[in-house]
Amino acid sequence: MSEKINKMIICPKCSEKSEAELICSMNNKSFPDMKKIIFGDKFFEWQCPKCGFQSKLLHPLLYNDMEKRFMVYYIPDAKRKIIADEKLEKEFSELSHIKKRLVSDVNEFREKIAILDAGADDMAVELAKYAVERIVEKSANKKVMSGYFLDMDKSENTISFHFFVGNENRPYIQTTRLEVYNRSVGIVKEYFEGFDKQSGFIKIDREWAKEAWKIYKNS
Ligand SMILES: [Zn+2]
Repeated sequence: MSEKINKMIICPKCSEKSEAELICSMNNKSFPDMKKIIFGDKFFEWQCPKCGFQSKLLHPLLYNDMEKRFMVYYIPDAKRKIIADEKLEKEFSELSHIKKRLVSDVNEFREKIAILDAGADDMAVELAKYAVERIVEKSANKKVMSGYFLDMDKSENTISFHFFVGNENRPYIQTTRLEVYNRSVGIVKEYFEGFDKQSGFIKIDREWAKEAWKIYKNS
């Protein structure tokens, strides 16, 4: 898999044609500070070299942390729950025991990297987040529009999430005891063991957590 491609872009404002270099794949060897790059404001931003017009430039990207043994494949607006990429599987067949995740949104992409980089189980984090979301909806008396993992502090015994509530998307940070996460780890072990051992890149998100809670409650 090539790491970079060049793409011709026509500025929507001044119609200037220019070539942009897009990164399609990153790993620790070629991008030692890849986490910093992804979390920087400038990534996925494009600026016209002639008129300075700025816009988002979203494109597929494979993030491969070979040290922590996980891969996150960002495919803008991917609708599928699993993507089996035969070419990639072959290329990385020697690394069968690594976590492979699919995300379809930039915020989820950064969140997934933060979770797996922290060494947390993302299935348990999603289950915990879904449970905490219910509590936030009750106390704020508003619908949670989206929510993201913020951090996990083992010395403080806490896990924090960043929610956006109501139609105005008001930010709402909820810190809760780590037991919520630990209980979710137990549920994952009991009910979803091996689920992420299948080949291909799988989506573990809010939709997954919603379905997983249903399976758990009905068992
Ligand atoms: Zn322009």
